[in-house]
Amino acid sequence: PVPASDTLLEGLNPQQREAVTHEGGPLLIVAGAGSGKTAVLTRRIAYLLAERGVAPGQVLAITFTNKAAAEMRERVAGLVGRRAHAMWVSTFHASCVRILRAQAALLPGMNSNFTIYDADDSRRLLTMISKDLELDTKKYSARLLATQISNLKNELIGPEEAAAAAGTDAVELVKVVANVYAHYQKRLRAANAFDFDDLIGETVALLQSHPQITEYYRRRFRHVLVDEYQDTNHAQYVLVRTLVGEAGDDSPVPPSELCVVGDADQSIYAFRGATIRNIEEFERDYPEARTILLEQNYRSTQNILSAANSVISRNTGRREKRLWTDSGTGELITGYVADNEHDEAQFVASEIDRLVDAGDVRYSDIAVFYRTNNSSRAFEDVFIRHGVPYKVVGGVRFYERKEVRDMVAYLKVLDNPDDTVSLRRVLNTPRRGIGDRAEACVAVHAERLGIGFGQALLDAAAGTVPLLNTRAQKAIAGFVALLDDLREILTATDADGNDAVDIGDVVEAVLERTGYRAELAASDDPQDGARLDNLNELVSVAREFSSDVRNAAGLADEIEREEGDPAPGSLAAFLEKVSLVADADQLPENEDGVVTLMTLHTAKGLEFPVVFVTGWEDGQFPHMRALGDPAELSEERRLAYVGITRARRRLYVSRAVLRSAWGQPVSNPESRFLQEIPQELMDWRRIDPGPARGLSIGSGYGSRFGGDERRSATPSFGAARGRNNHLVLAVGDRVSHDKYGLGTVLETKGSGPTATVVIDFGSAGKVRLMLVGGVPMIKL
Ligand code: ATP
Ligand code: MG
Repeated sequence: PVPASDTLLEGLNPQQREAVTHEGGPLLIVAGAGSGKTAVLTRRIAYLLAERGVAPGQVLAITFTNKAAAEMRERVAGLVGRRAHAMWVSTFHASCVRILRAQAALLPGMNSNFTIYDADDSRRLLTMISKDLELDTKKYSARLLATQISNLKNELIGPEEAAAAAGTDAVELVKVVANVYAHYQKRLRAANAFDFDDLIGETVALLQSHPQITEYYRRRFRHVLVDEYQDTNHAQYVLVRTLVGEAGDDSPVPPSELCVVGDADQSIYAFRGATIRNIEEFERDYPEARTILLEQNYRSTQNILSAANSVISRNTGRREKRLWTDSGTGELITGYVADNEHDEAQFVASEIDRLVDAGDVRYSDIAVFYRTNNSSRAFEDVFIRHGVPYKVVGGVRFYERKEVRDMVAYLKVLDNPDDTVSLRRVLNTPRRGIGDRAEACVAVHAERLGIGFGQALLDAAAGTVPLLNTRAQKAIAGFVALLDDLREILTATDADGNDAVDIGDVVEAVLERTGYRAELAASDDPQDGARLDNLNELVSVAREFSSDVRNAAGLADEIEREEGDPAPGSLAAFLEKVSLVADADQLPENEDGVVTLMTLHTAKGLEFPVVFVTGWEDGQFPHMRALGDPAELSEERRLAYVGITRARRRLYVSRAVLRSAWGQPVSNPESRFLQEIPQELMDWRRIDPGPARGLSIGSGYGSRFGGDERRSATPSFGAARGRNNHLVLAVGDRVSHDKYGLGTVLETKGSGPTATVVIDFGSAGKVRLMLVGGVPMIKL
């Protein structure tokens, strides 16, 4: 028989082979896009299991998304069989949740059923705190506070340390943040909740303060592997380092084998605290490290690679690497200059039609990328009209919709009665006569007695909360009884005494008994119909979750359940899944046969035969924010590199001369990155036709307003606000108005100072507006 290693190493190039078989000290694999880093990591795990006698439970592999984790687990299972399912393959966050739940007894004041607060929950809690502290919320928005606190957490700076540092800092914001931070942590703990950053930070703190726990995990995870290492932040770096250990540290357990793979040129999460330093200084951090470079690209054609190399080579201070491929030159890169974003979307849609009609690609082979989420609109409009099936990944996510969040908040409260943010969210949703005043009475009572909000609600129901009127007291008693009722469903068991609850039934019960569904059903607002659909979708998601668990009953034995892990199929398990979904986790399955639309950030790690990278305009991509800042500009250039290198066979790049920003058409010059692609690689379908084409604008539009003038203009009145009153709108254009919202131009009339447009603002009606400086401003 063929030894397993022959099949496992089959098809790998010598460097890849070396990376898969390397034994001993820390291993760094640095390589450009598409060179097989993720593939090598997967093979390496399989090799560990098949050839080096490593038990699946000894492997901890970290990926960037849950979806990538699932894929990697499947692939390894495909190579070595089902026992691969006992490995820990997950995101940093999901691994940390598992450790924290298992060790909850060591976390002061926390239970293993802690709730995970996402960004919205955090902001709500911060808003409550700001109110209590009577902060100027204009100056210190919840968003600003959340970012500042997140930055501190990513650097592993706790509230005490932040307060100490703030003592010597003259900046008021620093002091305010330190103060809010302390309150915020206290309230999180009281709610038995962790926010996202805590998951990492608290795991690090746990390991650092309990050497025996660190020892336990180090004995356990003899192999730690990290994909996309260039996007780790400081807290994640310390976590890895602590878990793995170092030669010569005083632990009785020798260091584990560490293997990290990454590409500094693809580091695009600096805004979340990621630092290239971690990859750049790996060799300094781990002096005994071995570094392997991969240079052969297996993904793209040479033309695509040459374009990517040429763009990224403009970044300074990087480690030069040349990617090559033996897959041939391939097609030229197709370029297109559109009049505006609708025209750009039109071009993309007709190219998609053409390619699919020609039979060489399926819809699912195609992806469209843009810099910011709001750009998906124009594509959606046009794709719907063209009948191009698509799926937008990211944007307002399903779990972020208000009604879905409300329902999940109910579930969180059932699971964790101390979850204050969720409790207060649903307290009067749907309305049940518990007003702001009553809520404040309960909150004050809780604060005064130093008890949780949930406990204070019980007091309120019992009538021992001062200043609460009888009506509110009754309403609260009703709410408390409702939650008790709902909790009873959770404890239902079948004849054999097993947990029998289908989470779908729980969601159903909440929808019914809270009156939430009835309220939406009675409404004649069409939006509420859509909300009902979403809630029904949530019921389906929950049912599917429960049935998956039932079907996987056999498998569940193989996936070793560990202390602290929520019971399979439990409400806690469902909530954990919901809390940890990320944008990239909603990627359509390939068989869906749809075009994928997503931001460049979400595209990291993926590949598609046909890729459209759109919006190559200075101010758009690179983003406006980055124009004056060399560090940010380098990061944007890496984003361009990521985008280009997703393409396997065909790459399209496009830009629009005019693009709506903040509701006004703004003229943007060509992206400097586009100019960095060598012209001989380009096939221009349409070039900038120059000023005054297509649109009823006077003279010299566009280029005249480039440069400094554009940059100094306030964003909401970009260059489109010409000095002359030229009409820059056409019938069918989508506009956004401060007061009326989004609309479509129905009619344009006149020119110069008398120009007017009629815009259909949907439910806000049709409005005739006079143009001021080329944009519709004044209602007639
Ligand atoms: P990125 O930097 O974008 O994350 P990567 O370095 O992780 O890319 P992979 O996604 O692992 O690259 O691989 C890119 C493509 O090349 C995949 O389709 C993979 O299956 C293929 N590939 C990798 N190594 C080989 C090989 N030795 N022979 C053939 N195909 C390979
Ligand atoms: Mg990869």
